[in-house]
Amino acid sequence: MKSDGNPVSKAHAAPRCTAKSKRTGERCKGPAVKGWTVCRFHGARGGHGPGKANPAYKHGMRTREWEEMRKAINDLVRMKKDIEELISE
Ligand SMILES: [Zn+2]
Repeated sequence: MKSDGNPVSKAHAAPRCTAKSKRTGERCKGPAVKGWTVCRFHGARGGHGPGKANPAYKHGMRTREWEEMRKAINDLVRMKKDIEELISE
């Protein structure tokens, strides 16, 4: 895989999620899933996933995969801010 040394650039260049927050009215800004106009949190690839086979499965928003995804995205957002601050100086 080709890399320019910046692990965030790929996610940064991806099309943005078009979902809008009802509370703040702001765009989600998450990277849209390929072939979709929304990110994973807003319905892309919805309906499938390993969690559904589990009897404890309820709404699918608390599975290990989702928690890990949330953490990963939070880290990416933080890294992106750091990088942007470095670049803007
Ligand atoms: Zn989104």
